[in-house]
Amino acid sequence: MVANTVPPRSASELAGLLESPEIAELIRELEGTRWTGRPGYPIHAMVGMALVKSLYAIPTWTRTVALVSEHAALQATLGCSPSVFACYRFATKLRTFDSLLQGCISRVLARLRAELPEMGQDVCIDASDLPAYANGQRYVSKGGRERERFSDPDASWGHRSAVSTRKGGGFYGYRVHAAVCARTDLPLAWEVSTAASHESNYVSPLLDAVRERGFPPATCALDKGYDVGRVYAECEDRDVRPIIPLRETPAVEAGKAAPPSCEHGEWRFAGSDAKRHAAKWRCPTGECKPASQWIKADRLHPLVPRETPRWRKLYKGRASVEREFGRLKHEWSLLPLRVRGIERVRLHADLTILAKLACALSRARAVPLAA
Ligand SMILES: [Zn+2]
Repeated sequence: MVANTVPPRSASELAGLLESPEIAELIRELEGTRWTGRPGYPIHAMVGMALVKSLYAIPTWTRTVALVSEHAALQATLGCSPSVFACYRFATKLRTFDSLLQGCISRVLARLRAELPEMGQDVCIDASDLPAYANGQRYVSKGGRERERFSDPDASWGHRSAVSTRKGGGFYGYRVHAAVCARTDLPLAWEVSTAASHESNYVSPLLDAVRERGFPPATCALDKGYDVGRVYAECEDRDVRPIIPLRETPAVEAGKAAPPSCEHGEWRFAGSDAKRHAAKWRCPTGECKPASQWIKADRLHPLVPRETPRWRKLYKGRASVEREFGRLKHEWSLLPLRVRGIERVRLHADLTILAKLACALSRARAVPLAA
């Protein structure tokens, strides 16, 4: 699989990325912008620095500059050894010309879609915590009053649930919401928000972004946190089948989510009609009159019923979004954050994911479809 790899760390890999048509076009476009100030290092070298930072999973520009200054092969590929100050200025430029960066991300994804035709058919959406680079002490002193000023004013307190050995509780920072392809594990669209925002608000913008990038998602797997009626409607409005487990709400406890049944037993699923927005269920023996019935789709009875093997298979695919968050955080330096302010955190996420996607594309190109 193209995505299941640690970042390739070599000067030749870096050279390949810089020469790829998608990145080369970004360099050309950035060269074409008016960037006032001292003539500095070539844009080619600065884009290269951004790639080095992600490939080598380095949280700061200072350490990226230190690596390059000691690494003859990287220096030869970049043609120079840029300063920390130049990196900061370049990051500012990228934020100013964000549309060029977004265009580059879209080009890489479009090319990946051409190389991997199954990409983007089944997606999964989830959110993951990004603790801020700030004082995360919620209280001024133990048992004291709540701290009012933090060093990152854009960050906010959010809640995270307990996962395996990790304790649940509050955290201070941001959240990245992502739509990931369940077949390739590659991110298709993402958004950074402050931690206090609710994850269910990001489903429709992410699905829209996935479609704008040319992918045709047919299903979307989400965890229980998204089990609200609105999310089902937002998916169905986009002709995407929602795959979401039920929370134990009163209706679920009352057994309203169970398949229909009669004196002959539990009815069997007999197919869905998306246009009709309903699923057909049939009496197990066919003795009832009528022997089948259409049930309108909703949260309790989705078009892909939870009782079906297809639902279970698609829900298992949801693990790909968690795996991808893990890789981005631990192997591609999405964490720890060493920038403050939501615009800088966004840029950091965009550059990290762009590097990852560009490497996946270079691998997909090297291993054509037949493989
Ligand atoms: Zn019956």
